[in-house]
Amino acid sequence: MTKFKFLYLLPVLGMLACSEDPLSENPEIESLPQENEFNQNLTEVAYPDTKGNVSSVYYAGQKLPVAEINGKYVYQGDILLPKSKATTHYENLIFEEGQAPATKSTGRTSGMWEDNTVYYSIDSNLPNKDRVYDAIKHWETNTPLTFIERSGESSYIYFTPGSGCSSYIGQIGGRQEITLASGCSTGNTIHEIGHAVGLWHEQSRMDRDNHITINYENVQRGMEYNFETYAEGGYDGEEFTSNLDFGSIMMYSSYSFSSNGQPTIVKKNGSTFSVQRSELSNGDIRGIESMYPSIEQKPEKPEEPSTPNYINGEYYTLYGLTVLRYYDSWYYGSRFGWRKIKLVNGNWYWA
Ligand SMILES: [Zn+2]
Repeated sequence: MTKFKFLYLLPVLGMLACSEDPLSENPEIESLPQENEFNQNLTEVAYPDTKGNVSSVYYAGQKLPVAEINGKYVYQGDILLPKSKATTHYENLIFEEGQAPATKSTGRTSGMWEDNTVYYSIDSNLPNKDRVYDAIKHWETNTPLTFIERSGESSYIYFTPGSGCSSYIGQIGGRQEITLASGCSTGNTIHEIGHAVGLWHEQSRMDRDNHITINYENVQRGMEYNFETYAEGGYDGEEFTSNLDFGSIMMYSSYSFSSNGQPTIVKKNGSTFSVQRSELSNGDIRGIESMYPSIEQKPEKPEEPSTPNYINGEYYTLYGLTVLRYYDSWYYGSRFGWRKIKLVNGNWYWA
C-alpha cells in the first residue's frame, strides 16, 4: 500500500508566503502616509481597539484566519463570520447520511439575496441614519439590487451601532448585523453593504500577488492575517474583473494596518496608491451585475453545470476538502485511513 504517503499532501490550505519585492528598496512614493487610517475612513474595522486571539476556522469550505473578539469571529478587520456556521475541524465538512448540513456555503457567488431584493431594518438607536439611506440609494441607483424595509421577512440586514464598521458576507439567514460606529461614513456603509451582498476585499483576490506586494514588515504585529488571500479551498467564488481594481470601494489602502507609517501594500513597482470610499467603481458594479443579473436578463432556464472529467488517481480540492479520485469514487484520507465519501448538492457525506 503506497496510498498513505499521500496523507502528507492533505490539507494544502496554509498561508501564502510573502515574497520579497526587489523594487521595494527604491519605492516611488506617490503619497505620504496617513496619520491614522481609521480616522481617514479608508480601512473598516469592527473593533478598532481590540486585537483578539487569532486562530483558523473552516467556513464555506475555506480555511480562514480569524480573530476572536467579543465572542465573534472577525475576518480581515470588518468581516464577521457566523459562529454557528464556522467549524474548527476540517473533518466536520463531511456529514453523516441524513444529517442536514449546518453550513450554507457563502462566497462571492452564493449566499445571494433572492430576486435581487435585500431586506433591511435600522436600529432606532443608530445615529445619523441618513448615511444608511444615502448608501442604499447609491446601491439602488447603480446596481440591479432593490432594498426594502423589512416587514416580517426572516432574513434581513440590521443596521445597528457598534464599536467599528462591520458586516457578514452574503446573506447568512436570519437577522444579520451591519455595525456602524459614529465614525463610519456613507462610503463605509456602502462598503459594508458590499460585504452583505457577497463581496470580499479586493486585495484578497486569488491573483492579487500579480498586482501588489504586501510589506508584512510594516504590518502591525498580530494584524498580518488581514492580508491573507482566500485559501485555495475550492470554493473561492469568482473574480468578476480581469485585473485588480484599485478604484474598488472594497480595496484596502496602501497604509492599512501599518505599524510604522510605512506602506503595507504597494504596487508591483513599489509605488503606493490611493483608494476611495465614496462610490462603487465600474468594476464593483460589473461584479454585482454578474452576481445579480437584472431580472429581465436572467436566462429562463439555468444552464446545467457540465460535469468535469475527473482523473482517477488525482487529488482535487472541492467544496473545502482535499479528496482523492479513485475508481470513479471519492476518498478522504482521515486519521483512521481512507474512507469513501460522496458529494451531494455541494456537501460531502460519508458513503
Ligand atoms: Zn471590509
